[in-house]
Amino acid sequence: MAAEKPALDFDGLRPPSPFLTPVHDAWRQQLRAFVEQEIAPNLKAWDAASTFPDDVYTKAAAAGVLGMGFDKALGGTGEDIDLYHRIIFAEEFFRMGSGVVFADLATHWIALPPVIAFGPAEMLERVARPVLAGEKKMAFAVTEPSGGSDVGAFQTTAEKRGDTYVVNGGKTLISGATRADFMLTAVRTGGPGVGGLSLLLIEADRPGVSTKPVEGLEWYNRNNGSITFENVEVPTANLIGVENRGFAGLANQFNIERFSGISATLAMARTAIAEAIAWARERQTFGQRLIDHQAIRQKIVQMIQRLNAAYAYMDMVVWRFHRGETPVADLAMLKVQATTTLEHCARESLQVLGGRAYTGDNRVERIYREARIFVIGGGSEEILRDLAGRQLGF
Ligand SMILES: Cc1cc2nc3c(=O)[nH]c(=O)nc-3n(C[C@H](O)[C@H](O)[C@H](O)COP(=O)(O)OP(=O)(O)OC[C@H]3O[C@@H](n4cnc5c(N)ncnc54)[C@H](O)[C@@H]3O)c2cc1C
Repeated sequence: MAAEKPALDFDGLRPPSPFLTPVHDAWRQQLRAFVEQEIAPNLKAWDAASTFPDDVYTKAAAAGVLGMGFDKALGGTGEDIDLYHRIIFAEEFFRMGSGVVFADLATHWIALPPVIAFGPAEMLERVARPVLAGEKKMAFAVTEPSGGSDVGAFQTTAEKRGDTYVVNGGKTLISGATRADFMLTAVRTGGPGVGGLSLLLIEADRPGVSTKPVEGLEWYNRNNGSITFENVEVPTANLIGVENRGFAGLANQFNIERFSGISATLAMARTAIAEAIAWARERQTFGQRLIDHQAIRQKIVQMIQRLNAAYAYMDMVVWRFHRGETPVADLAMLKVQATTTLEHCARESLQVLGGRAYTGDNRVERIYREARIFVIGGGSEEILRDLAGRQLGF
């Protein structure tokens, strides 16, 4: 029996996966309803304002979006989720190319779990519960003005004086920094290298903490900011995990962040390809539709070919994580595969759209600009290939 042809739209471009279940479908529908209702109608205005209103957090909490995978006792939806729940979250947000919203709404997935797992019990009520309710916001403050890739060279110090750390230094490019209430911050408590790093929860209203937007990123989201710490006194009780062992916590959270980056980029690639196909079917040049020109068909097939390869790789890596493995090299290579797939698809889709890409009633031009961020943030192409090489034992 001939298989029914999938529609060449966002959903149809996701290759079939043996691992997706009706539970995942239900989660997708829940998210899509939220995005369609609360985000899609506002995206243009929020893009123009370079921000979105605070109440999106509380609405996202009420819709079960913020609490996904967190303990019910803290206001979460329960811990019975797998990696596809995270992947679908990123996919549904990036289906719209809505980078302005996603990075801020999802940061607590990276920043909050170490606080819950390794922080003092009082933080469950003071930090976790209000963050999951959308009443307070968190940032994950790692990158420094001196560089983000070389984690071992971070310079922000936390000097212990009795039961207080005195923090000095700064962070930059931090998603949601300008309106965060809590900052999970990588600080140097020990000697040089990654062995001297710790994770410290810093409240944004402590004297000596200041933030400002990163200039130039207004097209993306002006809540992305730099943070300065000037003699900020933080109780030693705010240490998350073991002193000078912060890198282990960071590495684990980087894995989660990478899955978001992978799924976001593949979702944006699907959106871009779908837009290109729709336009190529409609636009006439030289007496025929664009899609009837061999050069354009080749472009579109090549995009789908790359997309399918990336999804097959992703499904396999997810399957291995679900089996309890931690295939770090493959996750690193997959992120490079996915982000460079998006770069290719964004470029080629924009090429198919031509001048129309700049007219504002499609997301391709924005996706084209955002594609570059993903090849850098969450581990850049060069750093991840290097990591993979080391993991493979070169
Ligand atoms: C929109 C956005 C949101 C972000 N959100 C956050 C956030 O919430 N929290 C946070 O902590 N950070 C965040 N970042 C920062 C991001 O994680 C860093 O940009 C990233 O880690 C790279 O660091 P860098 O920009 O300082 O580049 P650098 O480390 O200075 O590197 C510059 C370039 O050189 C390459 N390079 C560096 N070392 C080597 C080497 N040994 N061999 C070959 N090439 C090398 C890198 O791959 C990169 O291409 C965000 C960035 C952006 C753009």
